Amino acid sequence: MMRMPRATFARRRAAPWILALAMAGGGCGALRAAEGSFNTVRVGGRNYVNVADLARFYRFDRNWKQTGLDVTLRSKWRVFRFRVNNRECFVNNVRIWLNDAPLMARNSLLISEVDVEKTLDPILRPWAVRKLPVRTVMLDPGHGGEDQGTTGTRRSFEKYYALDLAARVERLLRAAGVRTLMTRRRDAYVSLEDRADMANSSGADLFVSLHLNSAKPARGPRGIETYCLTPAGLSSTGALSRRFGLGRFAEEPGNRNDRNNMLLAFLIQQRATERIREVEDRGVKRARFHVIRATRIPAVLVEGGFLSNPEEEKRLLTADYRQRLAAAIADGILRYARAMKPSAP
Ligand SMILES: [Zn+2]
Repeated sequence: MMRMPRATFARRRAAPWILALAMAGGGCGALRAAEGSFNTVRVGGRNYVNVADLARFYRFDRNWKQTGLDVTLRSKWRVFRFRVNNRECFVNNVRIWLNDAPLMARNSLLISEVDVEKTLDPILRPWAVRKLPVRTVMLDPGHGGEDQGTTGTRRSFEKYYALDLAARVERLLRAAGVRTLMTRRRDAYVSLEDRADMANSSGADLFVSLHLNSAKPARGPRGIETYCLTPAGLSSTGALSRRFGLGRFAEEPGNRNDRNNMLLAFLIQQRATERIREVEDRGVKRARFHVIRATRIPAVLVEGGFLSNPEEEKRLLTADYRQRLAAAIADGILRYARAMKPSAP
């Protein structure tokens, strides 16, 4: 219904959006009229949007709350929490890592324009994300064959559990009438390049890579995280920056789907953390993993839990838990697919 072309926020600064809103007289038209008309200010070489403008645009309550560095914006349907100088934020309690930390500058609270366009807007206005209908989903169980992936404390190999998880997600998607493909169906090695090629040549509309995580020390991290591709020119989230982020600032094939990638990642992470209460929400993150960088269809990579954490490993080794995890992931994919229907509001 409403389109927000890429880079709408950038390069158009003419009309203050509040004027556009007043002229349009409310309703949907107001948002359409307001598109692209955020005023931006430049700080440290980046464009930022004033949080007061953002609050009005997304119809958060006028009296939003700031306590020290913590800011909470609420509307009837949404709660958006963030902290000044911190990349971590929460939309409806789902953890999301912003590309840039919000700032306090020139007496205003500022959020980077690229975060408004590519992180927040796809979540807050899913109907404005480009409709790319989902008929066929390609599932990508990580590793396989000589590539075992990570190994848990009970010598559980990631490659087996990723495949099991993918097979469970596949059954659920098929039961919901979605066509599926897999990059591997048995314990065989498939290169990352071949996986991306398969995604690009198979006619699939969506690509979901499934992995299990590891970290040191073993008793440390646990929980679920969902990755989408880092937008061009920006750095990836956290410790992965060095391996999968920095140094590559060019536009990648996957970047054409930045907004779709974010919506898909958010919906999977949201369903996983809502449906599996005991799991820790490690958030929606950004990285330049090959399989999500080189795929030309919307793509995410789900790290379903830490095999290195004995407690989480124990859960992941039960079929019952893997089924719940698969159901949550499938649910997120189906919600995304519904949002992509041409008739979706
Ligand atoms: Zn893996």
